[in-house]
Amino acid sequence: MDKEKIKRCKRCALPETYPGVKFSEEGICNYCFYYDIYKERESSIKIQLKKEFLNLINSLKKKKKKYDCVVAYSGGKDSTFLLYFLKNKFKLNILAHTLDNCFLSPQAVNNIKVIVKRLNIAHISTKIPTELLVKILKSDLSSPLPYPKELLSMMSSVCVVCQGMVFGTTLKQAQKYKVPLMFIGYTPGQYPIISLENYFKVKSCVYFSSQVYKDDPLDIIKIARDPLDERFGKEIEPYYFKSQYIEKDEFVPSVLFPFHALVDYDEKIIYEKIYDLGWKKPQDTDPCSTNCLLNMIGNYFTMKRFGYHPYIGELSFLVREGKLSYQNALQYEYMDEAGFASHPIVKQLGLSKYL
Ligand SMILES: [Zn+2]
Repeated sequence: MDKEKIKRCKRCALPETYPGVKFSEEGICNYCFYYDIYKERESSIKIQLKKEFLNLINSLKKKKKKYDCVVAYSGGKDSTFLLYFLKNKFKLNILAHTLDNCFLSPQAVNNIKVIVKRLNIAHISTKIPTELLVKILKSDLSSPLPYPKELLSMMSSVCVVCQGMVFGTTLKQAQKYKVPLMFIGYTPGQYPIISLENYFKVKSCVYFSSQVYKDDPLDIIKIARDPLDERFGKEIEPYYFKSQYIEKDEFVPSVLFPFHALVDYDEKIIYEKIYDLGWKKPQDTDPCSTNCLLNMIGNYFTMKRFGYHPYIGELSFLVREGKLSYQNALQYEYMDEAGFASHPIVKQLGLSKYL
């Protein structure tokens, strides 16, 4: 589709190609409509969430465990700030866990080393076999995508695969070490605050299928895993979590998204702080990522196949919030097709035939 001719929400820039989007006669999208309705309730939900998060953290600290929490640590800007915040503000005993998808920028790998040392935090990694990831990637590129629109409105199919593994492998570490709390650094635009109302029902921002009813918002763990389980079965098992099959007495941690409640998210402050800690911005990732070299693959193929940028949902949220201009949001959609085709990773993975 010709990019110039794509119809967009007049207010937030969401394109007509975006999953689940509908426009009013005035040209305003349904995401803006729900944003406005929700805005009225947001501050009271945030206050309540903050109170409950703090209660949970304080009650855990009294237990004096070896690890109070496990943090999904990608080495990117947000999870780096999150480590600092949890260590500095709450003095938590943290176990940082990195999912190594074999495509972390070398600078991100170095950042991880520098930061955990500087903050004196225990750190472990789980490495995915490259062949498995590439096999999934190619399978997704050569067939209709099996993931629901709720997920694809938040991230590319490439990120769905890794995010499912981030949850799966970090939850398994929490189980192994009996860590009661898990943190993920989703930014407010990456995960809708409405979904955080889960917390009031199950004391966790992420829940397991056995805990909820049909009408609840998305079970991200289940819907990321099930399509892969159908295609790859046992091969994916070590890296994903069987949300719907947890046993009655099985230990699972509460999962919190602190950037929604505990932190007033401000990118400028985040960068200032993490630069102070010795974090350096990778130069080899795309503008939407501060750690992963595969992210650009997800961006490129989502644009090419479906006509929208997988970060436009997050960017349009910032436009509604007044933190990004409409025109600046569109700039992220620029694609250097020739540069992409000749990129070493595209060649290394044998993706040229999908271009
Ligand atoms: Zn809109």
